[in-house]
Amino acid sequence: MRRWLTNLILGRDARQQAYVLRTMMASVSYLIGCVIAETALFSGIAGPQEARTFEFFSVLTAVLSYWLVRSGMTRWLEDPGLTIVQMLVGETMAAIAYCQFHEFRGAMLALDVAVISFGIFNLNRCRQWMMSLYALVTMGGVMLWQSLEAPDRFPPTVEAVHFLILCTLQVVVALLGAEFSELRARLRSRKNALEEALTRIQDLANRDSLTGLYNRRYTQELMDHHISLQGRSGRAFSLALIDLDHFKAVNDTHGHATGDQVLQIFASEARRVTRESDILARWGGEEFIIVMPDTLAEGARLLVDRLRSSLNELRIETLEPPLQIKFSAGITEHRPGESSDVALTRADRALYAAKVAGRHRTVVDLG
Ligand code: GH3
Ligand code: MG
Ligand code: MG
Repeated sequence: MRRWLTNLILGRDARQQAYVLRTMMASVSYLIGCVIAETALFSGIAGPQEARTFEFFSVLTAVLSYWLVRSGMTRWLEDPGLTIVQMLVGETMAAIAYCQFHEFRGAMLALDVAVISFGIFNLNRCRQWMMSLYALVTMGGVMLWQSLEAPDRFPPTVEAVHFLILCTLQVVVALLGAEFSELRARLRSRKNALEEALTRIQDLANRDSLTGLYNRRYTQELMDHHISLQGRSGRAFSLALIDLDHFKAVNDTHGHATGDQVLQIFASEARRVTRESDILARWGGEEFIIVMPDTLAEGARLLVDRLRSSLNELRIETLEPPLQIKFSAGITEHRPGESSDVALTRADRALYAAKVAGRHRTVVDLG
């Protein structure tokens, strides 16, 4: 019930809720202004026309800004909470009221500070200073004008003291605003650094450090996610398990470092022949997997053949004797409804068959 009421008054979006809430808080200043106007009218300081005009514009501004912000119309603006507009209107009205409700004008100084305080939460340092300057110019202008025009009601010494108070309050609020703005900037930069660190940590957790390809755990996760989506779309995918042939001999003949280099070369060639949508991963030591969404076994075989011929052409000439990377591959199609493990077992069986049949070949097992 409370949630329903909150959504109705503030809207559903969390950001918009904050803006609407701030607009409603600003309306409290207008309400206080109206109370002052009523009191001024009641005690004969202001005439009905002055008081009613002030109240009309106060209510109009409050209702209009609530409607504009709540309807989401201001969402695309640089200042979606209409903070600057509301502050400008508030400051202007405070200056007009200062002139009209002259005996209550001290209260307008406090109201002006309440208006300027709204900028603390979301204006940058420069804009906060501009708002303070605007308040000083409008309110100071009214003080100067009235002390010249009607010195009996606005004695210049009183106006000078008021102006001094106003200046002090504005400086204090602007300094507070500057500190808030710095705090916000620091928080933002920390948040960005944390997000970057998180992305890096996720990358480290999901990738194999030698080849930069996805690791087995993450690939299994991706595959299971793909299968859960496939349940709805019914789209097939193929997978190819690839194992380098006689890789132990590469290590034994050329050393472990060269073995590592061969794994990296294989990974970069495989990356070159696969598509963006394929999932290429290091499945284990010298074993790799390619998951090919929306691809049938024939298409998968073509891709594996392409990889084989590109590796055939590639010789690591710096080694003696020159090395050629050869591999065996087992291909299968994932059938809708089956788990990834079942498809993987079939691909493994096909890979084993390729090894038994003499290696350096591809076997397709459709079950
Ligand atoms: P087969 O054709 O039957 O697959 O023979 P194989 O020699 O490739 O297979 P085997 O399982 O006997 O050996 C795999 C070798 O791969 C043994 C292991 O030391 C090596 N290996 C596994 N991971 C790495 C690695 O990260 N770097 C290097 N250099 N070698 C690795
Ligand atoms: Mg192996
Ligand atoms: Mg091997």
